[in-house]
Amino acid sequence: MYAAPDQQRLNQLTISLIKGEKEFAAFAEIDAIRSVIRYHDWRYYVLSEPVITDRDYDTLFKRLKELEAAHPDLITPDSPTQRVAAGLTEDFAQVAHLASMLSLENSYNDEDIADFDRKVKELTGSPTVGYCVEPKFDGSSIALVYENDQLVRAATRGDGTIGEDITTNARALSSIPLSAAFSKLGIHRIELRGEVIIRKDVFEKMNKDRKELSLKTFQNSRNTASGSLRLKDSREAASRGLEAVLYHISYAVDKKDKNLIGTTLHTHYSNIELLNECGFKTPIRDMKVCKSEAEIEGFLHEWETKRHTFPIETDGMVIKVNDLKMQERCGSTSHHPRWAIAYKFAAKQAQSKLVDIEYQVGRTGAVTPVAKIEPVALAGVTISSISLHNEDFIKEKDIKLGDTVTVERAGEVIPYIVGVVADLRDGNERVIIFPKICPSCNSPLVRPEEEAIWRCDNAECPAQAEERIIHYVSKDAMDIDGLGRSIIIDFIERGYLQNIEYIYDLPYDEIRKLEGWGEKSVVNLREGIESSKGRPIWRLLTALGIRHVGVTTAKDLSKHVKSVFDFEGMTVENLTNIEGVGPKVAQSIFDFFSKEGNIHLLKKLKEFGVNTDNRPEDAIAKNNKLQGKTFLFTGSLEKFTRDRAKQLVEENGGTLLSGVSSKLNYLVAGADAGSKLSKAKAILTIEILTEDEFLSLIG
Ligand SMILES: [Zn+2]
Repeated sequence: MYAAPDQQRLNQLTISLIKGEKEFAAFAEIDAIRSVIRYHDWRYYVLSEPVITDRDYDTLFKRLKELEAAHPDLITPDSPTQRVAAGLTEDFAQVAHLASMLSLENSYNDEDIADFDRKVKELTGSPTVGYCVEPKFDGSSIALVYENDQLVRAATRGDGTIGEDITTNARALSSIPLSAAFSKLGIHRIELRGEVIIRKDVFEKMNKDRKELSLKTFQNSRNTASGSLRLKDSREAASRGLEAVLYHISYAVDKKDKNLIGTTLHTHYSNIELLNECGFKTPIRDMKVCKSEAEIEGFLHEWETKRHTFPIETDGMVIKVNDLKMQERCGSTSHHPRWAIAYKFAAKQAQSKLVDIEYQVGRTGAVTPVAKIEPVALAGVTISSISLHNEDFIKEKDIKLGDTVTVERAGEVIPYIVGVVADLRDGNERVIIFPKICPSCNSPLVRPEEEAIWRCDNAECPAQAEERIIHYVSKDAMDIDGLGRSIIIDFIERGYLQNIEYIYDLPYDEIRKLEGWGEKSVVNLREGIESSKGRPIWRLLTALGIRHVGVTTAKDLSKHVKSVFDFEGMTVENLTNIEGVGPKVAQSIFDFFSKEGNIHLLKKLKEFGVNTDNRPEDAIAKNNKLQGKTFLFTGSLEKFTRDRAKQLVEENGGTLLSGVSSKLNYLVAGADAGSKLSKAKAILTIEILTEDEFLSLIG
């Protein structure tokens, strides 16, 4: 069984196979490689926690193929090489499910749940009933049949009684084990239910790739999953990032066809545990056994918000009676089982009226139209304003003032306007005319060629000052503690802050007297501001809010000058010669340093003591020896301090991580290293170094 495979042994075996340390007889080597490939498939496709590199995996796979080619008599149908079949499936045969796949009745609120609980108690005659509550995945339903531990059939739901045979495509999905040890429990034939899904991030990436290749993008992951399962070419199906999550055992018999549900198999929860142990992907980590109606409702509400950050699309939850004998007592109608119910999440879409548009000026002067709509509840929050992005977006969607708009709040938390409900127009709608002057300072707006954004290019624009100051103090920029957004807005209103340089000239005596400001918070604010004066210039370059200049570009830029003022004399061509700086970025840096107001600001900052020089101690990466490599230090270090170690990694272009994960390349372990070391040892891709080995790595 899989959840508790001897991982240490399999890790060791993997290493010895990759290194070719041991002589095997062909049959033994085939057997060994198959067992490690199955193990690594499980780690990769089921747990999403791979422990070997793709390259090592490919090496093993290739070796297995070679061995099987040399010994065709040793090929078995459950060998990992037999997943993807060559050739096309001509027709999908019709097959009858072993148990019919009924659909679930829907519920929408706590009352429905209370009703369901009451009925179940009546039907079972039991005053207390345990329920399993689990997410309902939005994908395409499948039924898998295993016989003698081998996958023998996979079918779509079809009409619930008859489905289509998609075994060839299901075999190509690495999250579906080709064999599973059900016979240990005396199970001879078993039917499992599940959902084939595409993870949100995989779906997004797939669409991005398709866009780049000028292919038509997919509408939603559910239709893509069900369409992909019915592709005639299983190699194409396998490439679509499909995963199968199994959540139900619908049928299980022993060799004599004796039903084992309710006898050998006791509860829904233990069934899912069994599937999990057999190496299937299951919702086990996301399900809960609830003992009361209140507990169910609590869990459902928790998921109302959690689902947005869940990696798989879910459209609701399923509540099932946990005890299988009780399920039997509840029985089914001709359409629905009486022992389970689906709980539908509140809609992701809503309609509302567009009543006004506000134009907001950002720190770079970009003017963003924001739709003010009649407040509407959507997926747990009330929404009253939504960004319309830019003028073109309004034109493309043909949005007019007074329109009824469809608002969606999908996986991301930010709501957006899907479109206009043109049928609801009554003729009173008005065309939206984008302003030509800045709503904050009345300067004329400009729209550079090939850009969608209108901007205010007045450096003194007060609306921009607010956003500029907020950006200046932010973590990635000057990182000033104690000066948050609300304080900045308050200080601007009081006239303490009019632009960035005012940060260094705050009237502390007045602030001290303000409500809510004690001596301690004034001291903290002052310390935060004072310490920002000594930051390296890449932070200042980031903080100035030059368009297209983020942290990475700012670091690239800082390496090429002695002082920030050096940029003043550079041409666009000079700037383009800097590594990492393209023509668009160069133009924007040039524009920034051509403006008198900006140079004035820098001079003021320097006067206040803000560092504008590229000092030797600020050197970022001296070379790229550790480029793309990640490090973590643990235990007590003797050759250097933690700070020095950090500096060494960064100077050489490497990155530090804060914990052990498969993203980590090197763990440098000093004396008395503890849990991090043992955790890292379990992940084969992590190389463990002594302090000396680390030093020799950077020469
Ligand atoms: Zn303005």
